[in-house]
Amino acid sequence: MQNLLESRKKSHNHARVVSPHYALTGKIYCGECGLPMTGYCGKSHTGATYYYYRCSSKNNKKEKSNRENISCNMKNINRDKLEKLVLDTTVSILKNPDAVKCIAEQCMAVQKAELENKPTEQLRLESQIKDIEKRLKNCVNAVENGLISQTITNNIATYEKQLAELHSQIDTIKLENRIIPITEEAVIYYLNELTKRATKKDGCSLETFDDFIRRVVVKDGQIDIYYNYTPVPNILENPAVKMLRGSSEDCLVTR
Ligand SMILES: [Zn+2]
Repeated sequence: MQNLLESRKKSHNHARVVSPHYALTGKIYCGECGLPMTGYCGKSHTGATYYYYRCSSKNNKKEKSNRENISCNMKNINRDKLEKLVLDTTVSILKNPDAVKCIAEQCMAVQKAELENKPTEQLRLESQIKDIEKRLKNCVNAVENGLISQTITNNIATYEKQLAELHSQIDTIKLENRIIPITEEAVIYYLNELTKRATKKDGCSLETFDDFIRRVVVKDGQIDIYYNYTPVPNILENPAVKMLRGSSEDCLVTR
């Protein structure tokens, strides 16, 4: 048994290959076709290894898959250069108090819009309620004007029952879609904590901001970096836009 364990251990160690690390895996998307980009390494004709992020439409090309049908012209992106750009951009935002303030304000605006945005189903039920309330009012008016009939009495009962049912459905929807509001102070605290990490003397890596960076979209000549404003995903609407070439514009947070 001991031998078996030893040999298993050996073969396990032998089989263990250190796979290259791609810090943006799961966060990086191709801006041309929308598919995720995946880590990829290849050798040049000189034998040097290159590490890239590659649009996943190019994966499994030999296999018969749906992805084969997507033709995407996205070029491979050098892993180290891209990761450095995303890290440098993030650190420079966090080191800029104006940018941090702008993010905090944006968070509040996003949250306000979310709180005001009613689900479609709720709007439908609310319009149904309005309609039934109108019918009910007509029936009640008729009774008040001395019109007594079994039909009207039955209708009143039916409408009241329907209204109770609709209100209870709306309550359920509200409960399912409830947003727990986050205060501006909480957002600022979160950003301050991140800023402390960004200004660490001994440096920081992309992993340091793993919960802050939500999504990176690579387009031709531009990358959009989307940030979270809480550790639980809550995406900011405006990405930091970094031009890959042409412009020296360094405005990272758009208002
Ligand atoms: Zn693509």
